[in-house]
Amino acid sequence: MLTGDQILALDQQHIWHPYASLIDGPPVYPVASAEGARFTLSDGRQLIDGMSSWWCMIHGYNHPELNQAIKLQLEQMSHIMFGGLTHQPAAELAKLLADITPKGLDKVFFADSGSVAVEVALKMALQYWHSQGQPQKNKILALQQGYHGDTIGAMSVCDPVTGMHHLFQHNLMQNLFAPAPTPAYDEPFAPSDIAEFTTLIKDNHQQLAAVILEPIVQGAGGMRFYSPQYLKQVHQLCQQYDVLLIADEIATGFGRTGKLFACEHADISPDILCLGKALTGGYMTLSATLCNEKISNGICRGEAGVFMHGPTFMGNPLATATALASTRLLLSQDWQANVQRIESLLNTGLAPCRDFEHVADVRVLGAIGVVEMNTPVNMAEIQSAFIAQGVWVRPFGKLVYLMPPLVISDAELKQLTGAMCRVIADKSLFSHD
Ligand code: PMP
Repeated sequence: MLTGDQILALDQQHIWHPYASLIDGPPVYPVASAEGARFTLSDGRQLIDGMSSWWCMIHGYNHPELNQAIKLQLEQMSHIMFGGLTHQPAAELAKLLADITPKGLDKVFFADSGSVAVEVALKMALQYWHSQGQPQKNKILALQQGYHGDTIGAMSVCDPVTGMHHLFQHNLMQNLFAPAPTPAYDEPFAPSDIAEFTTLIKDNHQQLAAVILEPIVQGAGGMRFYSPQYLKQVHQLCQQYDVLLIADEIATGFGRTGKLFACEHADISPDILCLGKALTGGYMTLSATLCNEKISNGICRGEAGVFMHGPTFMGNPLATATALASTRLLLSQDWQANVQRIESLLNTGLAPCRDFEHVADVRVLGAIGVVEMNTPVNMAEIQSAFIAQGVWVRPFGKLVYLMPPLVISDAELKQLTGAMCRVIADKSLFSHD
């Protein structure tokens, strides 16, 4: 077995990490094991996880039921191609997803990751309009401060600044962007809040294939919670102007915002829905793009007659069996009460941060707690301060936030919010830039 230092030596020589430089990159920490809401570094330090491994590990690490589902499936088959073949876990999962997602989303396309789910959604929208004899409807209207993934198509609908459109300006689809949605989740909605979006869709609907957005919570683009009224209006305008609506619930799905899917806050059903992250309880990578019959019939009765996509690992049996077990486990619990418990502990636990003058805002929705600073944080420095407090929190930009595993105990969550308050109180950590 390698020591932590040996792992680090190999890592530093060979491995790219997310959004990191290979020259003088920030430190990374070797992890030995994980259990429940905690993981253990190779040097023996235990950390409470405030990130759910980038928002997906809802039932916690090393969960006996999910482990068991994988073991059982492994003994049947770990993988089988999906072209011309099918199997029980994929069939049962597709039925379950169709049942629990908003009305009409009955057709399921499985793929590998969130970004690919978004690529699939964009392709579905483009191919749909092609099938309708309207290939000129080939632009997407997205929202500023939105985030939909890192592949080329997904990047073209991410916020133009954080998505680095200037760097890739000759490589990306040229799409349209409306201002970031307002007002905040619990603030009163005014007609002016949707005015610019309305103008954009009204003026451009003849070339618009779809609107894409993250319902209610804009995640990696700013951790913003916006009004369900805004979402309702967008849905209504899409119908009025014959533009498809793609809801990217990769981050919000499976209870995170207090509803099973964030579209439920506005009681709307999109034409296309993207799921990922917590779909497998965070155990492995899998995504699903669901659509309604209008889309599937359009595409399949169109010129190509088929949907032109088919990844090698589509519907992978291990991943779909795990997703089935994870989703059943979630539905078997009083997950709403649990998310409310986390919401209320985040509210009380993070409230002291409101008093710091270097804090711009503190906001909580469901199992998401955000402290927005006035200036961007120095991630390497703040990360080691969090580790010294026995917690794992990975901020970005001005945002220090918590998205804990839903299995986190009251005591662990209090330790997390206490550590947040202590680290944020240390003004010296935020005095750069
Ligand atoms: N859409 C949203 C809303 C996301 O939050 C993410 C990941 N943070 C993605 C898409 C991309 O998913 P993946 O990283 O699995 O490709």
